[in-house]
Amino acid sequence: MEEFDIVVVGGGPGGSTVAALVAMQGHRTLLLEKERFPRYQIGESLLPSTVHGICRLTGAWDLLKDAGFTKKRGGTFRWGSSPQPWTFSFSISPKMAGQTSYAFQVERMKFDHLLLQNAERKGVVVRQACSVTDVLFDGERACGVEYTAEDGRPHRVSAKFVVDASGNGSRIHGHLGERQYSEFFRNLALFGYFKNGKRLPEPNSGNILSAAFDSGWFWYIPLTPELTSVGAVVNHELAEKIQGDPEKALLSLIEECPLIADYLSEAERVTEGPYGRLRVRKDYSYHHANFWRPGLVLIGDAACFVDPVFSSGVHLATYSALLAARSINSVLTHGMEESAAFAEFERRYRREYGLFYEFLVTFYDMHRSEDSYFWSAKKITANEMPELESFVELVGGVAAKEQMVTPADAVQRLKDSSAEFTEALEQVVDDEGNMLPLLKSSVAGQALRESSQIQAQALYGVDSESEVPLFPDGLIVSPDGMSWSYPAPAQQAPTA
Ligand SMILES: Cc1cc2nc3c(=O)[nH]c(=O)nc-3n(C[C@H](O)[C@H](O)[C@H](O)COP(=O)(O)OP(=O)(O)OC[C@H]3O[C@@H](n4cnc5c(N)ncnc54)[C@H](O)[C@@H]3O)c2cc1C
Repeated sequence: MEEFDIVVVGGGPGGSTVAALVAMQGHRTLLLEKERFPRYQIGESLLPSTVHGICRLTGAWDLLKDAGFTKKRGGTFRWGSSPQPWTFSFSISPKMAGQTSYAFQVERMKFDHLLLQNAERKGVVVRQACSVTDVLFDGERACGVEYTAEDGRPHRVSAKFVVDASGNGSRIHGHLGERQYSEFFRNLALFGYFKNGKRLPEPNSGNILSAAFDSGWFWYIPLTPELTSVGAVVNHELAEKIQGDPEKALLSLIEECPLIADYLSEAERVTEGPYGRLRVRKDYSYHHANFWRPGLVLIGDAACFVDPVFSSGVHLATYSALLAARSINSVLTHGMEESAAFAEFERRYRREYGLFYEFLVTFYDMHRSEDSYFWSAKKITANEMPELESFVELVGGVAAKEQMVTPADAVQRLKDSSAEFTEALEQVVDDEGNMLPLLKSSVAGQALRESSQIQAQALYGVDSESEVPLFPDGLIVSPDGMSWSYPAPAQQAPTA
């Protein structure tokens, strides 16, 4: 049997990132990918921390910067009580883009392929068209995988760590228990591609446009000057209607949303090639009760997923890849105890997921005055208690504000954040048509805080908070950002 230090299952952004970061520390890394790249994937609108933070740490930035992706300076939303669209910008001033105050809109076929090529450049052994069928165990400990290669022959490889980065269709995540699905974010997405759709006025032509309407909301993502990704997110109860005749369903949803209908008024749908068919995806949000066990770790969509409205999927996939890589490197390079290294991974990952979850619940609640079926089901007060119990359990003691302990506290806190949001938005629409105060609101600020930290680390080589653990008994980030360290023992106060 071949032997590796780590085997990564799946070559999406999560898999390529963890593999590159571990191989860069000199560990023998194998990545097995079921498809042959380039392959289609949804999830095209990125956040700056992925591009300028994690992709700089892995070196993938060298390939991305000249790939010609559309620059995304922020988001434009028809959302909340105002009938006017409003814009938020990643930069301090919406009129000026700083060095890292943008992300990309990407064709995932191209983006994922570049990340995979970068992993290979960093020393990862990449095998495509190899589908992992199961995890091998030695007692309770995962010790390798079984996979089928392109020729149909089964293979086994052994590894000290197995990383499941095989996305929402993972076949092996069940080794860490069941997925827990969210009641609140049980949506369905119907999406396709259009040529020659309109663009927002400059400097926002590369922004994602998100427009709420009675049955849900639309995304409108300018991928290239000609190509636009358009998707409707609606309640799962519309599944039958949509699956029966997706073409007709998309046209009638577009008619329901005047802003998107206007942007597509001179466009035609792409009907050939990889973008030629309409696709339907349940975008149900879920998380696992556990993200790791000895020798096995889940990252990206294999571990958890939260609603796509704020484009957090690729961020969470690459961020969890960075956390997992730090834990694996801590064990393999520095001999740290596995349970300590992975407890840090799990706490930080849950915290980040929880922050986005809260941010998104409050973002949806901005439509609280709407009484259509989709939006009334998204009111915080209409939320089922078991959902909140599961959320409280998920973020437990790792939530941003540690005082949240019961579902009732959670309802109150989410309502307060939502009120703060709505208020910030009202100021924005009255003033300059941009959204700075909203980003200053606590729940949005918290969600983006860790991202700026990663960017600082990647750009300046230092983690400004690396000396301070995120949790009272937690670990700190090593100076190179590649592993964890124990904090220095606290100085004793001198006795008189
Ligand atoms: C409707 C919708 C819209 C979205 N929009 C956005 C967005 O705008 N921005 C954003 O950031 N995110 C978005 N997302 C989320 C985004 O698609 C995912 O979060 C992201 O792709 C997760 O990356 P990953 O690396 O975990 O998994 P994936 O990208 O799913 O990659 C997993 C890889 O594993 C491979 N694989 C699967 N099984 C096996 C196996 N058995 N053996 C070997 N390989 C295997 C697959 O072929 C695939 O290449 C959206 C999601 C949905 C549903």
